[in-house]
Amino acid sequence: MRLKIVQAGDSVLRQGALPLSPEQIRSDEIQQLIEWMRETMRDAPGVGLAAPQVGLSLQLAVIEDPGDLQKAIAPERLAERGRRPVPFHVVVNPSLALDGEPVEFFEGCLSVAGFSALVPRALRARVECLNEAGDPVTIYAEGWYARILQHEIDHLRGTLYLDRMHSRSFMTVDHLTRHWNDLPIAEVKQRLAVGLPT
Ligand code: ZN
Repeated sequence: MRLKIVQAGDSVLRQGALPLSPEQIRSDEIQQLIEWMRETMRDAPGVGLAAPQVGLSLQLAVIEDPGDLQKAIAPERLAERGRRPVPFHVVVNPSLALDGEPVEFFEGCLSVAGFSALVPRALRARVECLNEAGDPVTIYAEGWYARILQHEIDHLRGTLYLDRMHSRSFMTVDHLTRHWNDLPIAEVKQRLAVGLPT
């Protein structure tokens, strides 16, 4: 089933979400929710979806960056972002540790539909969480996968990329794909006067 993705302005996106016990994770209700969130994410399509985005204030997110989605992207752009396929998995009750200098790329969100902005994110992330079976796991991620994890875990804390973006780079996806996507990030920042005093 395709779930409705709520948009910026809905207060559920601004609340800290509630943790789930391993027993709750294994329940039919949550297993069903995971399945529906997987279908909703694939249908969108997106590379991550957090429970608050479907109106549920729970510390649960699904992530998948399949090779199919990356076929249309130039190999050099994938390499620059450190973007490699990530299999489907579930993150519950995560804690996050960041490492490495921030890197800046355009990022979007299914709950801020039609827009994008440059967002600085740490290059590496370590996440301690429970998986879809309710078992504890540690995830070490780098590059685009680390960005996805930071974005989804932000959702579980009521934070959107809007809170972290270079606001001068905020634009429609239409503008991004027509005019900016192929330029080096340093040139984008210079032309949009990102980082200069207003
Ligand atoms: Zn999002």
